[in-house]
Amino acid sequence: MSNVFEYAPAPESRAIVDIKPSYGLFIDGEFVDGGGTAFKTVNPATEEVLAEVAEASDADVDAAVRAARRAYTRVWSRMSGAERAKYLYRIARIIQERGRELAVLESIDNGKPIKESRDVDVPIVAAHFFYYAGWADKLKYSGYGDTPLGVAGQVIPWNFPLLMLAWKIAPALACGNTVVLKPAETTPLTALLFAEICQQADLPPGVVNIVTGAGDTGRAIVSHPDVDKVAFTGSTEVGKAIARAVAGTDKKVTLELGGKAANIVFDDAPLDQAVEGIVNGIFFNQGHVCCAGSRLLVQESVADEVMTRLKRRMATLRVGDPLDKNTDVGAINSAEQLAKIRELSEIGEAEGAERWSAPCELPSNGYWFAPTVFTGVSQAHRIAREEIFGPVLSVLTFRTPSEAVEKANNTPFGLSAGVWTDKGSRILSMANRLRAGVVWANTFNKFDPTSPFGGYKESGYGREGGRHGLEAYLKTDENGGTA
Ligand code: NAP
Ligand code: MG
Repeated sequence: MSNVFEYAPAPESRAIVDIKPSYGLFIDGEFVDGGGTAFKTVNPATEEVLAEVAEASDADVDAAVRAARRAYTRVWSRMSGAERAKYLYRIARIIQERGRELAVLESIDNGKPIKESRDVDVPIVAAHFFYYAGWADKLKYSGYGDTPLGVAGQVIPWNFPLLMLAWKIAPALACGNTVVLKPAETTPLTALLFAEICQQADLPPGVVNIVTGAGDTGRAIVSHPDVDKVAFTGSTEVGKAIARAVAGTDKKVTLELGGKAANIVFDDAPLDQAVEGIVNGIFFNQGHVCCAGSRLLVQESVADEVMTRLKRRMATLRVGDPLDKNTDVGAINSAEQLAKIRELSEIGEAEGAERWSAPCELPSNGYWFAPTVFTGVSQAHRIAREEIFGPVLSVLTFRTPSEAVEKANNTPFGLSAGVWTDKGSRILSMANRLRAGVVWANTFNKFDPTSPFGGYKESGYGREGGRHGLEAYLKTDENGGTA
């Protein structure tokens, strides 16, 4: 079916952002050149080079950690929680004031649709800073004590560059720690704009340090002997390498890794709403979501009906210019990620699953992948077991709730799951049996700073968000807090 909805393009202006030709590292409150080489970041929707960004060397990482240590000892850990909160509230308000600039820059550097960066990423980023600002002077009621750890080394991925930064920096600062953070190589620009926001908020120098670079820079942060806490979000493979690197040290570690969530649709679910939830679950952010609903488990009696409605809905998804306010699905973040998605999809076909892609026209420049669904998938197929991290859905069927639970849990991951049914009692019994950190009922991909998020099994350990998210940044052993 062709796209029946004609519409006029409504591109957001990029005039609000001022992208500099080159960027240094943000260390001790200043932008500095750094001793390493530079790398380029591109707009994945056009392949246009946006800027050159400094690659932090081991010596630069060391300078950042030393700045963070000085700021921790002399200023930040001595400040009262109420004073720290003022800085966090100030940062939150500046994020709101500069929200449009942040959203446009995020969409340009990452490829995500402006309607998502504007209505999802940036508002939740601000909300995260507001939420943890509120905890800064109330830590003694947290159940985890109120003693900070020291210097936190934080490494984040490219799928939610600013949101992952907020998840890492807001609780760390609220608890009295200072940070050295590395954004992903393909999406450094909003982290560097956040560094400017720290300057604008008069945050004491060294409390936040942003060091750009690739895997080696990440490795230097994680293995630095004066880092007390490592917080990582990214692939399970790198997460395992980090767990090995810190084993035997007294560094506290949290790992937020991959996922292969089951989105389970029962025959009594309101099917149109379920279809919207399936679409949101796998095509939100091009499917570059660790908790994406990448495995649809649909009850056999409604499978044909769900697939008909799903394909009809997928044919109306608008794929294209991330800055167009009409766009539903933007660009794949990098050529490398596009190659991975293509490879796994080809494996899916070779293994015998049936592939269907939405009939959309893809732009000629940039990295694109049409929303795709595989039917006839079995548990053994690689597309059912491995994270694709793109707009590709695998569909399996089930007959009974027990079979749905067994299939949903048959994965090395355990980050999230979705349940669609009219029965409240079934929601509760499913939620109790699904081995996943988050279970959504009759909705999907909902995030809120008050709610803890994290995984079971190979999806990692530790929780981010909510009161539970404070534990990762406090010395619980000294306080005896285990709430
Ligand atoms: P990745 O390759 O693991 O990269 C994540 C970050 O680690 C990047 O900043 C990366 O630098 C850096 N890095 C690479 N090798 C490193 C090493 N040896 N030591 C320290 N840091 C290192 O993952 P990705 O491909 O960027 O992101 C996609 C993955 O993240 C997916 O598997 C997804 O499920 C997961 N994810 C999980 C969550 C969650 O909350 N659980 C959230 C988002 C994403 P470069 O930028 O140079 O590669
Ligand atoms: Mg980029």
